[in-house]
Amino acid sequence: MLAIPLFRADSASGYPVNLLSLDFSTAEQLIQELGWPRYRTSQLFRWLYRKRVRTIDDMTDFSQIERTQLRQLARIIRFQEVQILRSSDGTRKFVARLEDDLSIESVLIPDAGRLTLCLSTQVGCTLDCRFCLTATMGLKRNLHAHEIVDQVMTVQDHLGPGERLTSLVLMGMGEPLANFDAVTGAVATMTNLDWGLGIPARRITLSTAGMASRLQDVAALGVNLAISLNATTNAQRDRLMPTVNKLHPLDHLLAACRAYPLPPHRRLTFEYVLLGGVNDTEQDAKRLVKLLNGIRCKVNLIPFNEFSDNAFRRPDDAIVLQFQSVLRRAGLDVFVRKSKGRDVLGACGQLGDLPRQKPVLLTPARGYCEPACELS
Ligand code: SAH
Repeated sequence: MLAIPLFRADSASGYPVNLLSLDFSTAEQLIQELGWPRYRTSQLFRWLYRKRVRTIDDMTDFSQIERTQLRQLARIIRFQEVQILRSSDGTRKFVARLEDDLSIESVLIPDAGRLTLCLSTQVGCTLDCRFCLTATMGLKRNLHAHEIVDQVMTVQDHLGPGERLTSLVLMGMGEPLANFDAVTGAVATMTNLDWGLGIPARRITLSTAGMASRLQDVAALGVNLAISLNATTNAQRDRLMPTVNKLHPLDHLLAACRAYPLPPHRRLTFEYVLLGGVNDTEQDAKRLVKLLNGIRCKVNLIPFNEFSDNAFRRPDDAIVLQFQSVLRRAGLDVFVRKSKGRDVLGACGQLGDLPRQKPVLLTPARGYCEPACELS
C-alpha cells in the first residue's frame, strides 16, 4: 500500500476519480492501493475499453466486495449527452457535450466500404487559419486524452450491425500538435492490443497545420502524418494561415518533412485546400510540384467547403481537375477529397458551430449516462 493514498473518495475535489482519465501506470497505483494483484489493471481496462461498460457494477468478474471497494474510489464518466446529425450522403456528425458544458464534434464518413472517423483534439483551435470555421471560435480548451478516446467509443456504441471502423483521422476540431500529450495518451489507448481499442497505428492519421518542430514526435507514435500545406509561397501562407506560418515558414516546414523518418512503405500526405481565385492557379500547381520534389508523398486536394460569413469560395470543378492534372503530369499521386456531410456542417473546416438550418435528422443518443447512474 502507498503511504499517502492517491485515490480518496474524500479528495480535495470531493469527487471519486474517473477511471477513463487514468493512464495504465496510474491505474496500476490505484490497484495497488486497493491491495489487488497487479493483473487486475489489464482486467479493469478491458472492461473499460473492450467491453465499454458504463458502470463498475457491470464488471462481473470482480466480486461484489471488490466492486463496492472500487466504487468508493472511482466511477466511469463517459460523455453526458450526444446528438447525432445525419447527412443525406450517409455521413454522421456526433456532437458530444463535455463535463463543463462545452461541446465537440466527430464525423463518421462512410466511403467505398470504408468507415473513417474524424476526431477532434481541442475545443476550438489554437490556430487562426482564415478559411476554417473552427478557427473563428478561438481556443476554448485542450481535450483530455480520455475525451479523444471517448469520441471513438461513443461512435462504436452507435455502429450498426456489420459496421466496423476502418480508420481514424485526427483532423477534426483543433491542432493535434498543440495538444500533444493528450494525443499521445489517446493513441496509446486506441492502439493497445491487450486491453485497449486495438486499432493499428497504421490506420490512424494525424493532420497538422504545420508545427514543424514537433513532426519528429509524431514519428514516435507510429501513426501516419498529414500536413496541411494549403499555399505555395510564404506571402500566400501568411495570409491564409498566419500564426502557424510565422512560427514555421514554408522552407522550415518542408525541411522538417524531408527529415521525417518515414517507415518503409509509408508516405506523407499533403493536404491542400483549394480556394477559388486564391491558390488554385496553374502557377500554384507548378510551385507545389517543386516544393514536394523528392518527398515520398501523396496529395489530397480539398475544394473549399463554404460556411456563412466567409469570403472564400469553392473553385469550379474544372479548375480542380486542371490543378490535379498538373500534379499528375509531374508524377504525383493526387486525390480530390470528396466533401461529405456538408449539409450538417460535417465537412473539413466546417466543425465548430451547430447548423443554423434544421438538421436532416436529430437522433438522441442511446446509452445516455448520467453521472449518478453509477450509484444506483
Ligand atoms: N489543425 C489540423 C487538423 C484540423 S483541419 C490541420 O490543420 O491539419 C483539417 C483539414 O481541413 C486541414 O487540411 C485544413 O486545411 C482543412 N480545412 C479547414 N477548413 C477548410 C474548409 N473550409 N474547407 C476545406 N478544407 C478545410
